[in-house]
Order: sequence, then structure tokens, then C-alpha cells
Amino acid sequence: MKTLIERRIQELKKADEKACEQRWDMKRSRLERMAFRDQSNEITFARQELERIAQAIPSKEERLKAVLADPFWKFDLKELICLHVYERYIKQYAWSEFQIWSLFDIELLETLLFIRKELNRAITINDWHIGGRYDERGIRCNLCDLVASKEVAYLSAHPFAEGLDFDVAGMTAEEVRLWLEANADKLPYPIRVEDGKPWVHLDMRYFRPSGYEDVKVYRLTV
Ligand SMILES: [Zn+2]
Repeated sequence: MKTLIERRIQELKKADEKACEQRWDMKRSRLERMAFRDQSNEITFARQELERIAQAIPSKEERLKAVLADPFWKFDLKELICLHVYERYIKQYAWSEFQIWSLFDIELLETLLFIRKELNRAITINDWHIGGRYDERGIRCNLCDLVASKEVAYLSAHPFAEGLDFDVAGMTAEEVRLWLEANADKLPYPIRVEDGKPWVHLDMRYFRPSGYEDVKVYRLTV
């Protein structure tokens, strides 16, 4: 959205330059030049209006910075990536953590923050970095077992950084799903959860079967 508006601002700037050129073209009549002046003023007014709108819309980068700076955002990047990605991109290629965070669907991170904040309970995604057994609950890379072992196409939300699995301290997965459904109106975006799993699967895919298009917390049967 912001990119589209910014593109339009650039187009208006170019249109204004053209109108200005005509306005100062002394071969034209005074009346014609006045008309171009009015045109230029109108374009400028429209551009300034769009600039005010663009300023009010945070960019994805600003949104990500806001998530990461939130006091309720308690997540270590390692909780959302596997050891393979960590070794290759952070250690070997020296990508910044921000760069890796930026791979995630920003709406997913904003939704995770919303849940973390509203429940105000510890959330466990991966825990491999502290000696735990979970390492494929965030991004799944091509080397991760769940991906590498597949002999069929695999389009899960995890490899696309659009989905996560997690547990909430002191709540069963079903209690979390029911809480999400009860709080659907407050959720920032529509989400999907996997029905019946002993962990919470959350993803941002918006496709719903016919008749379920408007369900904000959609229970996916896998
Ligand atoms: Zn991996």
C-alpha cells in the first residue's frame, strides 16, 4: 500500500514538472500559462495530500522495528529459525538478525506479539538453542527433517516464514485455540490454526473453503 502511494507521489512530481515547463514556456499565451499554473497547483495539492497519508502509514521496516522493540516481545531469533539457517546465514554469511527477522511475514510477527501481550504468558516455539528438542517449529529450511524427508511437494507455511508452532505456558493447545476464537474480533489479522494438534499451529494464509471465507480464526484440518 505504502509503496503504491509512494509511486503515485513520484508520478505526480513528474506531472508537476511538465506543467511547470509549460507554465514558463514564453511562446504560450498568458492565458495558457495561467491554466498550466493552476494545473501545477492542483497536482501539488494532490501530492501533498498523498505525502501526508504515506507518512501516517508505517513501512514494513518500521513495523518490524516496533515489534522487536516491544517490551512484550520476548523472542530470541533462534526460537523462530533452525540451526541450519543460524549456522549458514548468521554465522557464515554474517546476516544481521534484523535481516533474518525481515524474512518473516510481518503480520505473523504482529499476531504473535498480540498473543504474547494479551495472554501475558511464556510462549515456547523452538528451544534447540537451550538444549531442547524443538527445532522445526519456525522457519523450516531445505535441510530440516520435515522438509528433507519429503518425497512429495511440500508447501507448508513454515518454509515460507508464514507459520509457527508453539505452546503457551499453563494452557493446552485447545485452550489457546478457543481463546483465539473468543478474541477473534481483537486479533489484528485473520489467522489459521490446525485443529486437534497438541501444539498450536498459527499461520497467516487467507484461503478458506467456500462458506468459511469470513472466519477470522479458521481451524484447518490436516
Ligand atoms: Zn533447517
